[in-house]
Amino acid sequence: MDTRREFLYQAAMIGAGVAVIPQSLHGMGHRAALSDRMNVKKTISFDEIMSCILKHGIINSHAHHLKDAEAKEMNVKQIFQNSYVAWCGEAIPSSSDMVDKWLEKIGNRSYYVSLSRSLQMLYSMDEPLSGKVWDEYNLRIKKAHENPQWHLEILKKICGYRAVVQDAYWDPGSNNGHPELFKPTFRISHFLYGYNHEGKDHNGNNSQLAYGQHIDNIKTYTDFMYRIIKEKKEGGCSSLKSSIAYDRTIEIEHATAEEAQAAMGFGSNKPSAANIKKFQDYVFDTICDIAAELKIPIQIHTGLGLMKGTNPMQLQSLIARHKKTTFVLMHGGYPWMDDICGLVHAYRNVIVDLCWLPLISPSAAVRFLHELLEVCNGNKIVWGCDTWTSEESWGALHSMVNVLSTVMDEKISAGYFNKNNALRLAEDMMCHNAKNWFCF
Ligand SMILES: [Zn+2]
Repeated sequence: MDTRREFLYQAAMIGAGVAVIPQSLHGMGHRAALSDRMNVKKTISFDEIMSCILKHGIINSHAHHLKDAEAKEMNVKQIFQNSYVAWCGEAIPSSSDMVDKWLEKIGNRSYYVSLSRSLQMLYSMDEPLSGKVWDEYNLRIKKAHENPQWHLEILKKICGYRAVVQDAYWDPGSNNGHPELFKPTFRISHFLYGYNHEGKDHNGNNSQLAYGQHIDNIKTYTDFMYRIIKEKKEGGCSSLKSSIAYDRTIEIEHATAEEAQAAMGFGSNKPSAANIKKFQDYVFDTICDIAAELKIPIQIHTGLGLMKGTNPMQLQSLIARHKKTTFVLMHGGYPWMDDICGLVHAYRNVIVDLCWLPLISPSAAVRFLHELLEVCNGNKIVWGCDTWTSEESWGALHSMVNVLSTVMDEKISAGYFNKNNALRLAEDMMCHNAKNWFCF
């Protein structure tokens, strides 16, 4: 049994007490990952970190896992279509003869490297993906997904997740019908567009339409927000989530109720941009107050997005105004990781969420984690996959453990801390910290 195969086998046994690779996939060789070949002289290995965190069960801070019906229809094209590879600006091939040309353009992107490595391992393919083996990958993926539980088995038994914070932006606050695994976050972005029935966030959501409201008074509106957020928390939501970096700057300036009121009462006519900005700033500020009162953290997408006004430092005054609110700053603020280091050093109410970062750029994640471990307490770092499919989630976890083993090895080699410290920190980041900061 090669190392990779042994690892998958152990992961299955630890996660479930039973073998999880479908019968149809048994007996097909697993390919050793690059990390194994690099592990030879390391002070701490990929497998040691993976075994350690799987023993405790991983808490994944962020995912957009597809609904069962969509997960069931998976094939190789669908997997790439529902992944960050689809963000690389090149159409996903619909037949094997288009694959090699496509790979010439996007095959170097870390999104692709991570996902294709995951597919190769999960579907026991000896050869990396190419035009030649595209149809065979497709066959194996479709066959595995004939089992409607397969996508959940990957998450529970191979990835070893004991909880996943699910961000179903198509149905804010949903647990996809699997409350035992998915602990939903509640997206609050639509509240910023409820000044009338016409405003929409980038997911097309409007809070008043979503809840059948006809409110044109700001006090009634913030009471409505309070009621909904309280209901969501009582219904099992583990956090709030802001994705406004895809809509506008994430800087939230102080605004008064009177200024917010000026954006309401226009019916279907659009208020001025300045009035909308005041309304949104006031609403966001109020949500931070509500989050503090209800003791629920707020996850904030930082970094990539509009790219103008989305660097984490834009949040400095908001964080300073709301000392009792827990802010979970996501994605390392990539590419502005230094902002996060400064904010977490300066403010006790900041938590750092590494979700997505090892997929965007493993090298950036290594640089960031090195510095973060020096300026941030070990109990304030969490990780999530930030993916739609189980296949990409397994790739994201694999990338994160590669980042951890690289950083921990370098820290141990430099005498910064010892191996026991490294394993404990990895365990906290991947297994325990999220439980302490989120409402489970
Ligand atoms: Zn996300």
